[in-house]
Amino acid sequence: MKTIIVFLFCLIFGTSVFFTQSLSLFRIGTGGLQGVYYPIGKLIAQGLTARFLGVDKPDTIPGTLFIAQTSGGSVANIYSLLSKETEAGLIQADVAYWAYSSEGPFEGLTQPAPVRAIASLYAEKMQIVVRKDAQIRSFEQLKGRMISLDEAGSGTLTVMRILLDAHRLSETDLKPVYLKPEFTVDRFIKNELQGFCLMAGIPVPAIERLSSVDYLLVPIDKIVADRIHQQHPYLFSGNIPSGIYEGIEQTPTIEVYALLVVHQDLPEEVAYALTESLWSNGVLSLVNTGHAQGASITLDTALDGVSIPLHPGALRFYSEQGMVLDQGP
Ligand code: GLU
Repeated sequence: MKTIIVFLFCLIFGTSVFFTQSLSLFRIGTGGLQGVYYPIGKLIAQGLTARFLGVDKPDTIPGTLFIAQTSGGSVANIYSLLSKETEAGLIQADVAYWAYSSEGPFEGLTQPAPVRAIASLYAEKMQIVVRKDAQIRSFEQLKGRMISLDEAGSGTLTVMRILLDAHRLSETDLKPVYLKPEFTVDRFIKNELQGFCLMAGIPVPAIERLSSVDYLLVPIDKIVADRIHQQHPYLFSGNIPSGIYEGIEQTPTIEVYALLVVHQDLPEEVAYALTESLWSNGVLSLVNTGHAQGASITLDTALDGVSIPLHPGALRFYSEQGMVLDQGP
């Protein structure tokens, strides 16, 4: 008994000393539970924690615990960076640009959002899933149907609004609902919903869960995607390759890069250590092997589609690597 009490005392006392004296918390805003931001964010957080607490931790930085937090998506992640509820966020390049230039969903900001990029991670693809028996074969045929456009705060909803506009449709031409994919799967299977969408990496776990029902992906015509690109340079035409989802052929769509973004107030040496650690062998091998989309995260493509200025700490790291940000889309 005495041993147990001594053990518990040591555990509680030891833990509280450890946490109060040596750890700081670094929160990364991601997306919904059934998207790709969350699993990728978790891998990054896991890798960075191991490095920042490990033997080869950057000497400028105290022990840091990194955690991935679920969220509404890119727009919500901008706001939680601004209110300092998070230290970093995964954010679509188009959404980051709008925040930086106080446009689109950020028109109400009195000044440009003080957000800075650490890295571009991978290309996200708009994936609009519809039940096969709903007879929806084109974007226009979404008209009148009950489709989930993702929730307010998501980057998906902002791109869907652009797509609706490009097809001369308005949101009310649909019977829109605003749910994250984890809340749509059951409804979709029960035919209470004809479709749902997500601007995300591949594969999307929520789509992989649909094996009990026949479904299709709605194509976005390349001509439409190219026209959107003229107006919104960070959105560009692309494809969902065949076979990502069983029985689904290659489908043309619209894409955007996912960026790792921080507040400009993050100290330079922290942003440098963060960037340098992200591209260290330890973190990268975890990210590359832990999720199918993670394999396309590489230092070579770290500046692709970066739509806002790099944080000075990140800029220093890339300059040392001989990499230059071509700030055009
Ligand atoms: N790009 C989506 C958004 O900003 C999130 C995608 C994901 O969760 O993987 O809403």
